[in-house]
Amino acid sequence: MCHNWEFPPHYYSRSLEVLEKSLSQVPAYKSWHDFDPGPGYPVDMRYAAMPALAKTEIRENFPDGLVPAGRDVRRGLESGEIGLASTSGSSDISVTNIWNQEWWDASEQASWKLNSCASRIATGTHPEVILASPLSVGFISDDIDLPMKERRLERFLFLNEKTDPAKWSSELMDRMISELEIFKPAVFEANPSLLAKLCRYAADHKRKVFQPGLIVYTYEYPTQLHYKQIRQIFNVPMTSSYGSTETGYVFMQCEEGKFHQNSEFCRVDFQPLKSEHGGPFVGRILVTTFNNPWCYMLRFDIRDLVRVDEEGKCSCGRNSGLILSAIEGRAISLTLTCEGRLVTLRELDDALSVLNSIDEYRLEQVSKKAYDLHLVSKRPDKSRLTEEASQILKELYGEEAKVSVIYEDVLSPEDSGKYSIAKALFPINLESYLDERYIIKRNQL
Ligand SMILES: [Zn+2]
Repeated sequence: MCHNWEFPPHYYSRSLEVLEKSLSQVPAYKSWHDFDPGPGYPVDMRYAAMPALAKTEIRENFPDGLVPAGRDVRRGLESGEIGLASTSGSSDISVTNIWNQEWWDASEQASWKLNSCASRIATGTHPEVILASPLSVGFISDDIDLPMKERRLERFLFLNEKTDPAKWSSELMDRMISELEIFKPAVFEANPSLLAKLCRYAADHKRKVFQPGLIVYTYEYPTQLHYKQIRQIFNVPMTSSYGSTETGYVFMQCEEGKFHQNSEFCRVDFQPLKSEHGGPFVGRILVTTFNNPWCYMLRFDIRDLVRVDEEGKCSCGRNSGLILSAIEGRAISLTLTCEGRLVTLRELDDALSVLNSIDEYRLEQVSKKAYDLHLVSKRPDKSRLTEEASQILKELYGEEAKVSVIYEDVLSPEDSGKYSIAKALFPINLESYLDERYIIKRNQL
């Protein structure tokens, strides 16, 4: 494993402060004391000996259990210093969180420094358009189309108020295109599935689309198919911003394509998978937040996998914090080969990206050796396409894989508003795939 990572000057003092305050003053972590080897050990080792915080534990401890002694959640809510935010979540569990806008904005601004285009044009007062599910952000209105002024908030314009993009009409997509022209955003923040859909429409109907200064992907994993469809319409810098409601902004993709840790605002602990499943470079991350006096997230299991960069450096010159060569996708998007090896969303997506003229796909692993691939495609030679797709999946999952290709007119997102691109219809316990050599047990110290 390569550990060339350097951290900003306050990284270790903040890590230590958050750990000690959490253990001594935050009720959710009281019982974690038993795992702590104590102040005589290096801070990294003390973190490594701690458990992970699961979403279900946030729910059990909400709200007072995550707040340090001396802070009163009710008073904070009354004064408007904090609010509440529900995540329908791209995972299975829905949770309400304490929302601190000031901290969120500061975390976002710090992340912009990690991409030179973002740091140039994102001033904090720049006009920004957001194309996302209204279940994630913005205003919901499925029956009536909301006029533009009712989808504004401060410097933002929300392009979409519909919960199911499968039902977007051509009038609605024309409206989105014309509003981009009117609003002229510096930054266009987009859920990649939704932007890809708008781009397919614009390409099919030869619409000209306003070019923003920067496109930022959030909410979902951007697939190669998304990129291909979006690049037909947009010829501008693009970046992917990675984080969650619980953790704020954790990684940002730089102009060279690698991901840099937002290490002023969070600590990231990396746990590699066993080598036969992609370790030591692929693993899960646990995120600890810094600087949020209202909520202590200690080793939060964000339920995503990443690939740390093998060289541990980037040609952009940024060398502070972890450097990733890729986000590998959500834990809930993991599937297994017939022999039981883990396949991340990125590995699947890389394999399927060679298929031509696909609009959308979703892979469901229905049992240990059976895979259903749902495809939306205008290709007339469906039997050829079925053959090509089956061959790719057999190469990835094993010759004995039973592959069914199912054609659909359109795919809809999950109840959360986010698309599922891959999933197994049976539980996969990620913890049992972690490399135990990197997990410290107290009795081994
Ligand atoms: Zn870089």
